[in-house]
Amino acid sequence: MSRRKKEKYLKTIIPLGIGLIFLLFLWLGYRLIFTKKPTFLESIDTSAYASITDEAIYGIHLNFKGNFTAPENVSDLQLMLANENEEINLPFNITNDNFTTSNFINKGINLEFLKEGTYYLVIKGTEKVNNKETTKYYSVENKSDYNDMEYYTLTKNGQNNKITLAWNTYEGCPTLRVNVEETTLPNDVYDITIDPGHGGSDPGTSATYNGQEYTEADLNLAVSLKLKEKLEQLGYKVAMTRTDDSDVNIYDKNGSAVLGNETKSKFNFAIHHNSFDYEAEELKGIEIYVASNIEFDFANMLVNNIIKEANTQISPKEVYQTAPGIYQRYFTDQDILDDEVQPSNKTTSMIYYYNIRELGGINTQATNDGRYENIGPYYYPKNPFYNSNNTTEPYLIELGYMNNQDDMSKIIGNEDKYAEGIIKALQEYLSDAQN
Ligand SMILES: [Zn+2]
Repeated sequence: MSRRKKEKYLKTIIPLGIGLIFLLFLWLGYRLIFTKKPTFLESIDTSAYASITDEAIYGIHLNFKGNFTAPENVSDLQLMLANENEEINLPFNITNDNFTTSNFINKGINLEFLKEGTYYLVIKGTEKVNNKETTKYYSVENKSDYNDMEYYTLTKNGQNNKITLAWNTYEGCPTLRVNVEETTLPNDVYDITIDPGHGGSDPGTSATYNGQEYTEADLNLAVSLKLKEKLEQLGYKVAMTRTDDSDVNIYDKNGSAVLGNETKSKFNFAIHHNSFDYEAEELKGIEIYVASNIEFDFANMLVNNIIKEANTQISPKEVYQTAPGIYQRYFTDQDILDDEVQPSNKTTSMIYYYNIRELGGINTQATNDGRYENIGPYYYPKNPFYNSNNTTEPYLIELGYMNNQDDMSKIIGNEDKYAEGIIKALQEYLSDAQN
C-alpha cells in the first residue's frame, strides 16, 4: 500500500469506526435505560397507570393494595395477570380508587394454582364512547416499600413451581412480571416447619397420668415426629426446630420464631399441650391460636379434623376465643406498660404470642426489631424477618390439657391421631383452589 493510499484509507476507516462505536454505545445506553417491551405490553394504554402501595406473601397467598384513577369513560375494571394468550382474573375490590386483592392476609391470590408461564400485572377496563366499546389495558407501578419476591410452591409429586415476581419498566411502561416455572426445591427451601414447643432445660407443663409422669416437651415432640413422618409420606419436605429433647432458641438461627421463614416454609405449626389453673375452672379440649386479620377456613378445618380424628373436643374456654376452638390473644394495655423498652412498639391490635406475631413479619405486625437485645434478664436477639413481607403462615396448636385426666386418656398413646387430624385439615384446605 502506498503512503497516499494508506492515508486515504485511515481517513475513511477511522471516522467510520468511531461512528459505529458511538452508535453502539448509544444503543447500549438505550438498552440500559429501557428494557425491551414484551409483545403483550404493546397493547398497554400509557395515559394512566395504577400504583401498588403494598405487596405481601403470607403462607400460600399473595396480596396487593393500591390505587387507580380510571380515565374518563372507562369502567368494568379488573386486575389480572395476562400475556398474549391468557388472562387470569385476580381477586379485586375497588372503592374510591383504592383497591385490594383481599382484606385477609391469608386469602387473595393463591400461588399454588398459578399455571406455568410468564404474565404481567395489568388492569383491564372498558372504554365506552358514543356506544362504542374499546378494551383497554393499564400498567402498574411499584410504590410499595418492597421490591421483587420469590416463592416456591408446596411439593406435589416431587415437583415445585418457582414463582418470580420482578418489577420492571419496559420502555416507559412499568409493570410486575410474574414468571412461573417448574423446578425442584433448593436445599435450603422447605414446605412446612414444625416447632415442638419447649425442650431441653424447659420441659413446659407436666402431669401424672396412670401413675406415670409426663412432660409437655416430650408429648409435643411425640406428636410432632408423627406429623413429620406423615407429611414426608405425602412428599413434603419438613423442617423441625428440634428432633430430640434439646433446647430451642427463639430468635437465633433455627429458632422457633425464625426457622419457618429461614426455610421459606408455607406453614409453621407450633405444637403444644395446655394446663389449667386449679384455682379456676377445669378445662379440656383443643385450642388453636391464630393471627389477626385472617380468614378462619384453615383454622376451622384444623379444629374439626383434630377433634374428629382424636375423638376429643373443642375447649370451652371463652377468654381470647373468637370462634369455636379458635383463639386470638392480643397484648393488653398492662402488657404494653410492662414492656422492657419504652415507648413500647406494641399495640393492643397485635398478637401476644411470638410464635404467631414474629413469624408473620409485617403480615402479623412483628415487633422484635432488635430493641430487646441485651436488656435485663430477657435477651432477645433481633428477629431477622421482623420486616419481611414474604413469610410463613403460623398456627399455634394446643392439643389438650395435661392436668385433665380425660384429655390425657385421649392423648397418651394416640399421638398418631392428633397428627392425622392436622394432615386431614391440610389436605382439605389445599385441595380447593378457592381457598
Ligand atoms: Zn407449651
